[in-house]
Amino acid sequence: MQAPFTRASIRAGHHRDGGRDGAICMRLLNGSCQCQTVTFQIAGRITDAMYCHCSICRKLHGTAFRARAIVKASDFRFLSGEDILTFYQSSPGVERGFCRICGSPIVTRFMRNPAHLGVPLGPLDDDPGIRATRHVHVASKAPWFTIGDDLEQFAEGAVIRRDDRR
Ligand SMILES: [Zn+2]
Ligand SMILES: [Zn+2]
Repeated sequence: MQAPFTRASIRAGHHRDGGRDGAICMRLLNGSCQCQTVTFQIAGRITDAMYCHCSICRKLHGTAFRARAIVKASDFRFLSGEDILTFYQSSPGVERGFCRICGSPIVTRFMRNPAHLGVPLGPLDDDPGIRATRHVHVASKAPWFTIGDDLEQFAEGAVIRRDDRR
């Protein structure tokens, strides 16, 4: 286990905003569940932000879509409450970790890609800099929700673009 980053290191300037897309090499983001039992930090790039309208995301988040992104697993660390996290296999090879006290979604583990984690953007307490670039699984979109932006829409799955990858 590595030691958590300290507040002092944050003040030291690691959390400066980077370029237009927020892609800088050292970015420290804080996040937490709603009850504050689970807290975590992400040190590194957060990429591939998108809105997912699939029925799994709608149900697990209780809303029209999930705003999500990808981080390197080695950039993600818990500051507290890791033992409170409960993982639920939402589909084969995909495990969603949530706070078992308040239910906030925190991380998604991919069995076929253990080097990366999926992160919902909602639990972040800091601005990750990046913005979602597309809507995916629009074919499963809730009928009561209308997409009101000009982002690209994909009927099916999470299209990973080369330029979004680190
Ligand atoms: Zn919680
Ligand atoms: Zn989804």
